[in-house]
Amino acid sequence: MKEQGFFYRDTWAEVDLDCISGNLASFKKLLPKDVAIIAVVKANAYGHGDVQTARAAIEAGAKYLAVAFMDEAIALREKGISAPILVLGATRPQDVAVAVEHNLTLTVFQNDWLEEAKTYLSPGQSLPIHIKVDTGMGRIGVRDKNELLLLERTIQQNEVFILEGIFTHFATADELDDTYFQQQLSLFKEIIGSMSGNPKYIHCSNSAGALRFPEAFFNAVRLGIAMYGLTPSPEIEPELPFSLQEAFSLHSRLVHVKKVQKGEKVSYGATYEAEGEEWIGTLPIGYADGWIRKLQGQEVLVGGVRAPIVGRICMDQCMIKLPEYMPIGTTVTLIGVQDGNFVSVNEIAKKLETINYEIPCIIASRVPRLYKRGGKIVDLKNYILQS
Ligand SMILES: *Cc1c(COP(=O)(O)O)cnc(C)c1O
Repeated sequence: MKEQGFFYRDTWAEVDLDCISGNLASFKKLLPKDVAIIAVVKANAYGHGDVQTARAAIEAGAKYLAVAFMDEAIALREKGISAPILVLGATRPQDVAVAVEHNLTLTVFQNDWLEEAKTYLSPGQSLPIHIKVDTGMGRIGVRDKNELLLLERTIQQNEVFILEGIFTHFATADELDDTYFQQQLSLFKEIIGSMSGNPKYIHCSNSAGALRFPEAFFNAVRLGIAMYGLTPSPEIEPELPFSLQEAFSLHSRLVHVKKVQKGEKVSYGATYEAEGEEWIGTLPIGYADGWIRKLQGQEVLVGGVRAPIVGRICMDQCMIKLPEYMPIGTTVTLIGVQDGNFVSVNEIAKKLETINYEIPCIIASRVPRLYKRGGKIVDLKNYILQS
């Protein structure tokens, strides 16, 4: 079996766990003591690695974890995570017994769901639930007081359900204009005001909300993107209350270096033609790694300077134009810092005309993730694997 941190291809991502801890420490300073942090580790922790991120978040003071689907929650349980986990998305009613077995908290927003789910639970079992309110996101959630009161009543009448939380999700917390945000917030306050009692957790803010709107803290916040050190949107970056430390970086090494002459071509379609004598380097990363074809022309860092990707990106490899001869084995940084130069996740997102959230998520599982503490590559027990 391969050891963790060992692989046969020189392409890897690094996740600096100190950045995740540091970002959460900054949040802890910002948030009042009674506001709990729910660390959002869905989608393999936005591509960073679920269990390592979950552990770092809990060590840094997060009280709860959140994922999108029950499969993700079970994966964390199987990797030894015992902290409470909220499944944010919809779960099938026939799967509630599995949720109970794994000690999970589910999101509920339909009365029929409760009626069906209870038939799968036996007396003595109990399922903690958070009710989702749709205040304007238009995704999932109860949309008015009557629907909420109906759910509340069914929960009260069935001892198998424990109403532990209620929450909503903002559609525009990362936009400078806060009109729609304020509408959602007042609607949420109005709807929860109609409940007969407050559940333990009331939460509505994602990263953007938590960074910008203390009036929406309630007693918990759900932190995703900012925990990973990425701004929720470029437009709110200037007004962030503290600086974020980007945890994710992507690296490779030159596997081939050659001199080409003026007029010689590179890659599929022979679309790139050398303008003169040039040094071309080959990297073992391609679109099957999530380094997609649209990144042709994007600059990477090699020898501390920027070098462009030339010719089409292949499934497993791509070529760069080197500033000068460089030896095989030279480290190339595709995302991250090298000798004081920086290619940020935001730069890649801009090139791909998308949001930064998408970038670490699309870096394929074929790319191994290495974890850093104190600048050194460590394993799950924090033992140093490489210095
Ligand atoms: C993904 C998600 C979050 C985290 O959002 P960020 O913008 O990454 O902080 C919070 N709440 C819900 C319901 C989500 O789906």
